[in-house]
Amino acid sequence: MAGDLIDIATARERVLAAVEPLSTEDVPLREALGRVLAADVSAEEDLPPFDSSAMDGYAVIAGPAGELEVVDESSAGHPATRTLAGGQAIAISTGAQIPEGADAVVPVERVQVQDGRVIVPDTSAGANVRHAGDDVRSGEPVLRAGTLLGPGELAVAASLGHASLPCGGRPRVAVLVTGDELVEPGQPLGPGQIRNSNAIAMVAQAERAGSDVVTSAIVPDNLEATVAALSSALESADVVCISGGVSVGPHDHVKPALAELGVEENFWRVALKPGKPTWFGTRGRQLVFGLPGNPVSAMVTFHLFARPALRALAGARTDDTRVVAVLDEALPRNESRDEVVRCRLRAEDDGWHVSPTKNDQSSHVLTSMLGADAFALIFAGEGTVEQGERVPIELLY
Ligand code: AMP
Ligand code: MG
Repeated sequence: MAGDLIDIATARERVLAAVEPLSTEDVPLREALGRVLAADVSAEEDLPPFDSSAMDGYAVIAGPAGELEVVDESSAGHPATRTLAGGQAIAISTGAQIPEGADAVVPVERVQVQDGRVIVPDTSAGANVRHAGDDVRSGEPVLRAGTLLGPGELAVAASLGHASLPCGGRPRVAVLVTGDELVEPGQPLGPGQIRNSNAIAMVAQAERAGSDVVTSAIVPDNLEATVAALSSALESADVVCISGGVSVGPHDHVKPALAELGVEENFWRVALKPGKPTWFGTRGRQLVFGLPGNPVSAMVTFHLFARPALRALAGARTDDTRVVAVLDEALPRNESRDEVVRCRLRAEDDGWHVSPTKNDQSSHVLTSMLGADAFALIFAGEGTVEQGERVPIELLY
């Protein structure tokens, strides 16, 4: 690691140390997808709530084969009213309540039906019965605070009767991009101009990380405009992400503008490729990320630093996107900076494998993001990471 550059892990630790989770709120299930659960949830009832049939068939008292009289029906939502006695059966549907007295179900395929009577085979107690509390017992912990709510978690919450869940706050994010050369897609390109791709990338990344993007704007390369745009963003946002203008060129105004607005620098420059000029600072509880302008650098550094911060603000337990995969192509190490290689992920017999999406991994080659499922981390050092070696990867999702 060279000079005053910090490494990825240190930078991320510093970011996470600066996070104070947002206040929590109750969110209706229908709106809770992608939110973070703010408190442990325990079952207040058994799941399933009653003994029920796993099959369409006949509820019986377990015993030897014989002929039984069908005396009632239990269908889903309409339990039988009679108690089952010896010599009797009750027709039952999948999911219907097991009638009182019955302790087994004979599937319809295994009986012969004749004039209101059924001939049933040998049956053992509990056959085809789903018992109350089989899945979850009342009082058992089911969901842990800090869990990201996906379809499965929401379905479990619904099955236990929760209409809403306590969730971490949704971070409000301002996305700013700097550059006199920037033109929005859909507008004609003048001489020396390029399209603004960082804004759409960062907005999408922020939204995918569960935040609410409140501002997105292009900022011209002058100090006054940069101060004005950042000042307005800081009025309402929990997090400001601004790309470009964070190096040391004569047209880079982000750092002085942030200093003028009282945003304190936490770090500037990470031993990372691409993404070296990354800047991070705070003003009170507000977080500001000055990300590099190069499109891949902006996306990589957003993922490595801003995304975990957004999740942590919402109360997520940990950022668990880091796993290990086999590298399918030898890659040279960078002497002083950890390198982030955009990779495709493939499942093989011995686990996950990664290979670069593109040979050219320069920071302006935005199409290296296409088909990328993961960032492989090639740590700084001498020589080469050989084909077949295991490397840490960051999953992109
Ligand atoms: P900078 O960090 O401002 O020197 O920008 C580095 C490189 O990224 C330059 O080639 C810029 O033109 C390019 N760049 C900056 N902002 C954007 C953006 N919003 N969309 C696409 N490219 C950008
Ligand atoms: Mg610039």
